[in-house]
Amino acid sequence: MLLSAAFVLIDAAGCQNSMDKEEGSQPVEEWKIHDPDRPLPPVVNPGPASGPVPAPADAFVLFDGKDLSPWEDSKGQPARWKVENGYMEVVKKTGSIRTKQKFGDCQLHLEWAAPLPAAGEGQERGNSGVFLMEKYEVQVLDCYDNTTYADGMTAAIYGQYPPLVNACRPPGEWQTYDIVFRRPRFAPEGKLTSPARMTVFHNGVLVHECAELTGPTENKKRPPYTVHPDKLPVSLQDHGNPVRFRNIWLRELE
Ligand code: MG
Repeated sequence: MLLSAAFVLIDAAGCQNSMDKEEGSQPVEEWKIHDPDRPLPPVVNPGPASGPVPAPADAFVLFDGKDLSPWEDSKGQPARWKVENGYMEVVKKTGSIRTKQKFGDCQLHLEWAAPLPAAGEGQERGNSGVFLMEKYEVQVLDCYDNTTYADGMTAAIYGQYPPLVNACRPPGEWQTYDIVFRRPRFAPEGKLTSPARMTVFHNGVLVHECAELTGPTENKKRPPYTVHPDKLPVSLQDHGNPVRFRNIWLRELE
């Protein structure tokens, strides 16, 4: 049966059924969204940055430092972020950008750097985001000596799960995200049969292990899942801050 084959694949990736799962991260439902009382995770120094992590042979290279041809804006027009010196940089008010190609289950590697000198406080310091399927955000933010609500800090699954630790490097330094993403599954009539799951490493440090998303990630609300295609673009957020990205690659896992 096709459906159970998909579940076996998910289990093989190390994610147990939620029934058996020991909660490594805080249960979402126990906390209001953006709850200021939700505990902040401990700070862990991840060690020094290294050079770009090479793309494996079977990866789609989504940004090689030269041009934005794999990307477009949210209206399907050419992406207008700045490209120079091997990185792209958010250009305020040009909007978020997304991959022209669409993806479902995947392993995504990307590198980013928050603006130096740091400017702004809380959510206004180095804010961007990585959206799987344009719906499920891993927050990009500068939380090095900067505090915000736990479910919106660096590497949070926005509005749902704080990271297990705060593994930020200082602004201006390159940081890595490695994300293993399993898309949600829907029955033919549209009912959710398996939630989206994410395992995330920030600067090589585990920050989410098989976190089960409650639905799309949004500001101030946790909407339920609605049925969507098996493949959708990866997008990067224009939150008005000049965050830089480099070396983005993705391996399909289905
Ligand atoms: Mg963001």
